[in-house]
Amino acid sequence: MDRRNTIQRQLVLQAVRRLDHPDAEEVYEEIFREHPNVSKGTIYRNLNILAAQGEILKIETGEGADKFDFRTQPHYHLRCRLCGKVFDAHLPPLSPEKILGDTHGFIVERHNLEFIGTCSECNKSGGIKNG
Ligand SMILES: [Zn+2]
Ligand SMILES: [Zn+2]
Repeated sequence: MDRRNTIQRQLVLQAVRRLDHPDAEEVYEEIFREHPNVSKGTIYRNLNILAAQGEILKIETGEGADKFDFRTQPHYHLRCRLCGKVFDAHLPPLSPEKILGDTHGFIVERHNLEFIGTCSECNKSGGIKNG
């Protein structure tokens, strides 16, 4: 990996840390403000490489754009269906792996749990978004 690639990857990683569960478009906008010469394709590619390497977590939200998370240890997410923001749920991770292994003979490698609802900001504004 050459030096330019390393720098670009660091930029992407730092943007994901700063932004807190951004989607690829938000990472691009964040980097573009200071580094307008970095292309969108480069940023998208680096996000996927970092996710594949386990440096960041890719959260597939089912609807809308995937979000990225610099916290890679298992944790759950709250997703607001009004503004689309993703928040960390302060909930201890469940570990049903043993039970599922015993009862189904199924080897669980990972699981997703997402809570969908409306966030405190949206609740405050009565669920109506301006613009
Ligand atoms: Zn919201
Ligand atoms: Zn998270």
